[in-house]
Amino acid sequence: MSNGNRPVIDGTQIAKAIEVINTAGMMAPRVDLRPELFDTAIQQQGYRMIWEQAMYCSCYASDSEQPAYVCDSCYGKGYKYINPQEIRALATSINGNKDLDRVGLNEMGTAYLTAPSTCNIGYRDRFTIVDFTTRFSEILSSTGRDRLRYPAKEIVAVYQLNQEYRRGVHFNLTEDNMYLEWVTDELEPDSRYSVLYDLTPVYIAMGPIHDLRGTYTLKGMKGMEGFMQLPKQFQIKREDFLADGE
Ligand SMILES: [Zn+2]
Repeated sequence: MSNGNRPVIDGTQIAKAIEVINTAGMMAPRVDLRPELFDTAIQQQGYRMIWEQAMYCSCYASDSEQPAYVCDSCYGKGYKYINPQEIRALATSINGNKDLDRVGLNEMGTAYLTAPSTCNIGYRDRFTIVDFTTRFSEILSSTGRDRLRYPAKEIVAVYQLNQEYRRGVHFNLTEDNMYLEWVTDELEPDSRYSVLYDLTPVYIAMGPIHDLRGTYTLKGMKGMEGFMQLPKQFQIKREDFLADGE
């Protein structure tokens, strides 16, 4: 029975491809390596995530080189994120563990990401790891309709000092999960309050580990050398762990 041109992959080959991904730098020519295995390994072992490409927002002021603090396009971050698409990519902890368990991904600010060779990842690109949930707290200023930094999966608590406010009683979460809309006027305008909520973790690509990463391959008995581009690996950082201006 034919399976077309798709390579037949077993677990050992997947493990080998993952091991190579976790090995830094260029490698000597190897006959036992099939570079097309890498994308299959990533597809099988990777986390589901939304990849968005980053570009500068045009709100940067020409004199200060700073993004506008109030910007309807980037919300003061200085970067726009375009072309969302779902991919699978490997996330590896900084100390070389093959898998980030749920706790590890939750607790760590930094990790490595290996994307399929078909994804041309760039600096500052954004990855939303859709199957995970983390908790986030921030302080908002009351305007009646207050924008959260990230879309909320669930509002856990809202407090102003010791006074608790409840969803459905004092405020509602908008359908896009981005705004708290107040239905009572108990909060003084411009007074500060804090929110605790659940969100999907978002990572930013900070720098390529191996930008021009590849391997020379020997093609069978003829010994012809070829060059295969390997998947790109980036250091990624939790967006909410980034310092201002980083
Ligand atoms: Zn902007």
